Amino acid sequence: MQKPPKKKEKCANCEGKGLIKLGDKKVKCQRCGGSGFKASAPTH
Ligand SMILES: [Zn+2]
Repeated sequence: MQKPPKKKEKCANCEGKGLIKLGDKKVKCQRCGGSGFKASAPTH
């Protein structure tokens, strides 16, 4: 059973890994900056 994260959302671009497979090497996900989570700005 997985709890949905309240604050941190998993980055869909890298699937929460923070790295993206590019050819034969892995590069840091530019979307989340390698954290694996969406860098969402506080909207409250
Ligand atoms: Zn990412």
